[in-house]
Amino acid sequence: MFSPYLLDELKKTMELKEQAILFQNRRGYAPVYRCSSCGWTQQCEHCDVTLTYHKSQNQLRCHYCGFRASMAPTCPACGNSELRLQGTGTERIEDDLAIYLPEARIGRMDLDTVRTKNAHARIINDFEEHRLDVLVGTQMVTKGLDFDKVSIVGVINADQLLHFPDFRAGERAFQLLTQVAGRAGRKNRRGKVVIQALQTFHPVLKEVLAGDYKEFYRREIEERQEFQYPPFFRLIKITLKHQNPETVNRAALHLGHWLKDRLEKRVIGPAMPYVSRVRGQYLLDILIKLERNTPLINQTKDWVMEGVLEMRKLEGCSGVRANVDVDPV
Ligand SMILES: [Zn+2]
Ligand SMILES: [Zn+2]
Repeated sequence: MFSPYLLDELKKTMELKEQAILFQNRRGYAPVYRCSSCGWTQQCEHCDVTLTYHKSQNQLRCHYCGFRASMAPTCPACGNSELRLQGTGTERIEDDLAIYLPEARIGRMDLDTVRTKNAHARIINDFEEHRLDVLVGTQMVTKGLDFDKVSIVGVINADQLLHFPDFRAGERAFQLLTQVAGRAGRKNRRGKVVIQALQTFHPVLKEVLAGDYKEFYRREIEERQEFQYPPFFRLIKITLKHQNPETVNRAALHLGHWLKDRLEKRVIGPAMPYVSRVRGQYLLDILIKLERNTPLINQTKDWVMEGVLEMRKLEGCSGVRANVDVDPV
């Protein structure tokens, strides 16, 4: 997870008695526990996600609902006893870094380390007063911090930010990487920013490196217009939930048709979201893309309410929950 270049820079930083920040937007030790033979992964019992291994508790945990489990000793699908942890979270970075930089005092700032009272302030204080040499953290390290002696900021895996299935992924990645980079050498001199990625030709990375917001904006706004996304179009996202997958499917198909009869091609879906089951509820999304036309938007809001009421009249569908999000963030 550390390129020779990054390690080298970190060692130099330690020799100069300066500080480093390492950014990884994933907490825990490893996000996947997988059978090396058949590919089975240990999943949450209530959500459609893999469980994340937390080394300090020696436990697997769901980051959506808090479900906890111990690691399966053998694969329940094929009986193989070789199961492996895959991927990298902040806890693993902290752990492995101690091997390469045995002298360094390493701290970690993520949801797991700031749970107790004052923990957040204490970590920041320790870093500010240089009782820590390296701070490993999630998004939390990008906000509101102004450290004087940080001469290097490392982004462990930028690809992960770029491939989130959302039309705003590029914008978020640009913003986050620019913010992270801004943590390096803020007051008196320039610091160094090392971004590790596999897709080094990704346009967002090029624009971040060049600090070229204008080019980022030009490219992004063109795509938004072409694919009918905000700010050119308004979005309404309807998420239907039920503990029975067939019920939610029936409800979503019905509501989808009902809305398409009125809004035609503006209605997309129903489709399964990225995480299609959370806390025992199966999820389906219907997306509506609307021109920026106030009467149309108001009419659509009424139709959505009416459509949801109609859908609930279907047999067995009265308990289907509908979440309506206008311009979802
Ligand atoms: Zn297996
Ligand atoms: Zn869960």
